[in-house]
Amino acid sequence: MQSIRKRLSLVLVLCTIVTVVLSTFFVNHAVDNTFNKYIASNQIKRNQRIVDYFQQIYKRDKRWTKNSGVEMQHEGYMSNYCLTLFDENKREVWGMNPDELKNMPMFSKQDANSAGEYKTNTFSIKYDNKVVGYISIGQYQPVFLSEQDIDFKSSINRNMVVSVLIAICISIFLSILFSKQLSYPIKKVSEASVRLSRGDYEAKLKFNSSVLEIKNLINSIDILREKLKYQDDIRKRLVSDISHELRTPLNILQNNLEAMIDGIFPATTDRLNALNDEVIRFGGLIDNLNILKEFESKEVILNFEKIPLDELMYNICEEIKSHAKSKGIDLIFNAAVGEKYLISGDTDKLKQVFINILSNSVKFTLPGGKIYVNLSFDRQYVIVSIKDSGIGIKKEDLPFIFERLYRGDKSRNEVEGSGIGLTIVKDILILHSAIIDVKSEEGKGTCFILNFNRVK
Ligand code: ADP
Repeated sequence: MQSIRKRLSLVLVLCTIVTVVLSTFFVNHAVDNTFNKYIASNQIKRNQRIVDYFQQIYKRDKRWTKNSGVEMQHEGYMSNYCLTLFDENKREVWGMNPDELKNMPMFSKQDANSAGEYKTNTFSIKYDNKVVGYISIGQYQPVFLSEQDIDFKSSINRNMVVSVLIAICISIFLSILFSKQLSYPIKKVSEASVRLSRGDYEAKLKFNSSVLEIKNLINSIDILREKLKYQDDIRKRLVSDISHELRTPLNILQNNLEAMIDGIFPATTDRLNALNDEVIRFGGLIDNLNILKEFESKEVILNFEKIPLDELMYNICEEIKSHAKSKGIDLIFNAAVGEKYLISGDTDKLKQVFINILSNSVKFTLPGGKIYVNLSFDRQYVIVSIKDSGIGIKKEDLPFIFERLYRGDKSRNEVEGSGIGLTIVKDILILHSAIIDVKSEEGKGTCFILNFNRVK
């Protein structure tokens, strides 16, 4: 298996080599073309110059001799072209030997093997608008280069090879560096996910990346780690809480029954009643766990209907009011008369929601306290707020109160309960697409705000 870094470097190096080689090829081709065109245009100018020169010779001598223009021979051999001078009847006056060209040092500089075919071009020499002779210019290559031209071309080629090599070296270096930069966070994230899969939720990813996708990946892995850690904590606590909740009433029953069997305690009606209360509590806990199981395994069937929430809330408040009064707590219900607080939901299940929340408020509010139930609405929601002046919830407990079997320290020790009520509330509200929010301050009170989708 190849590492991402190796694969990335390899791809980058290959891409760079292909790009550099291709662009070098095209640049070289373009330079060659332009250069050959430049040389060809120089040759046209040279030919014109030679013709002009012979016209001047004729103008001066008014005839051709064996010496007419022989000075050009030297230039011809040095510049790899051959001249032959003809008179007006196309009879040769004098001419250079093309084979001599091959012995010239310049010729060997060019590719002697591909010397090519010897070709001539003949131009007429005019005087007073009359053709007085012909000059033939011949050469082996279609484009013949001077020594400087050849040096220029080979220096371009040399430089290109050097720059290709340098570009490839730089690209290898940059590819290794870049792929390391890119692969490092991916490697770290992959190591972190392996750790997560092994159940190690502690190690946080301690680096960042400027690449958006990798940054998102790091964040998601971190969020996933936190969620898994949270779920793992909850699961561990749930197991210990369930065994604690079941163990306590069982221990009480067992100890008392053993004491009665051993004759330490007499089996009086009062004692048996107390034990029966414990059995009832125990049964209540199992019932609540059962309700929870039904919700969580999605076994519950809801009967949705249009509910005027103000009527439902008013009736529930009336039911709870006497219980609150017996604890010295005032329950105040407030909803604007004549307004419609219509929502869609299952009446029984919603009743359970409000009873759970309101009985908590009564349970956690001291005598003399107050509970306010307010109804309002906006365009989208019917909003119910249930606010008490009770003991409040500790900041560190607040995120967990909707978890199964979660109970605040105080309630665990002093107030009866199972830690299931709010979990059921949350499950029912999810099925109603309703939102619940809670604000609380220790010692001041708690406020639950529920938003239900409004129907017309
Ligand atoms: P319990 O059976 O313990 O009431 P719940 O799930 O109904 O279980 O509530 C979970 C915990 O949330 C309670 O143990 C308590 O610590 C806290 N809580 C809920 N409602 C209130 C409230 N109105 N005032 C203070 N604490 C509350």
